[in-house]
Parts: sequence; C-alpha cells; structure tokens
Amino acid sequence: MSKKAIFLDRDGVLIENNTHYYIWKSDQLTFVDDVFENLRKLSERGYLLFIVSNQGGISKGLYSKNDILVLHSELIQTFRQEQIEISEVVFCPHHPEIEKCFCRKPGSLLIEKLIAKYQLSRADSYFIGDSLTDMEAAEKAGIRGIPVVPNQNMYPFISSVLQ
Ligand SMILES: [Mg+2]
Ligand SMILES: [Zn+2]
Repeated sequence: MSKKAIFLDRDGVLIENNTHYYIWKSDQLTFVDDVFENLRKLSERGYLLFIVSNQGGISKGLYSKNDILVLHSELIQTFRQEQIEISEVVFCPHHPEIEKCFCRKPGSLLIEKLIAKYQLSRADSYFIGDSLTDMEAAEKAGIRGIPVVPNQNMYPFISSVLQ
C-alpha cells in the first residue's frame, strides 16, 4: 500500500513571512495561526507531512546552507513538541539569477524525489501552498494543489482533506 502525504510550503504557510521575506534565524520564527492544530488534524487522518521550500537566499549568499539546516532541525523539534512528526524537510538552495536548477519550485524535482523515496500515492496526496509556483509544482508532480491565503489560518482551505 502506498502512503499518502501532505506537502507543505514553509514561508507564508507554516511560518509568517509578512515582516521578513527571508527567514533563516530562529528569532524570526512566528507560526501562522493554528498551524499546530491543523497539522495534527492532517496527521491524524494518516497523512505523512513534508516541507518543500525554495531557499534562494543561500545562492544569493544572504545566509548559509548550514543556517537553514540548523533552523529546520529546530523547526522539526518544535513540531515534535506539539506531537507533530515532519517526515522530512527539503529545500532548493539555488536562485535562478545565479544558478539554474531543476529543484526550485515551480519545478517538481523535490516532490518527485520524496514520492519515490517514501512510495507515496500521487492520487491521495496534496500540496498546500500560498504561491502560484507551489500550485505549478504540484500539478507537474501530478498531485492536487490547495492554495491558501499567505499568513492566514489554513483551516478553511483544508476542510475537504479533513472530511
Ligand atoms: Mg510561500
Ligand atoms: Zn534548486
């Protein structure tokens, strides 16, 4: 049996990005309203949870890959304290003005790799994102996209998944 998953964009979906565009330090972490409760509900429905993020600030030299790895391990710990298991956080470190790649959303490579690695069912999985590029990446990977309003409680948008 293949597993079902929720892919989540990070900035604007889990973490508020209305005051900082680039987020790489733990003191910049402000969680979007009800994010813990919403992710617990998704997890209780049997979805594995993944975070898929563009981090072009690495290519631009604004922060390092290690800064992001440290931040993501803190993020995983914070979610774990809230009884939420994030299976994996993946990110594209490239910026198109500096280096071309296939992993930056709207590319679907990061999603494809997770689908292969965890044997995920495309038909039963969703991508929750606040950008058109998130929805394009989902479409390319053959999974359904759920657009949400940036920095707002996602609950009204995920009700169809929770039914
Ligand atoms: Mg976003
Ligand atoms: Zn990339």
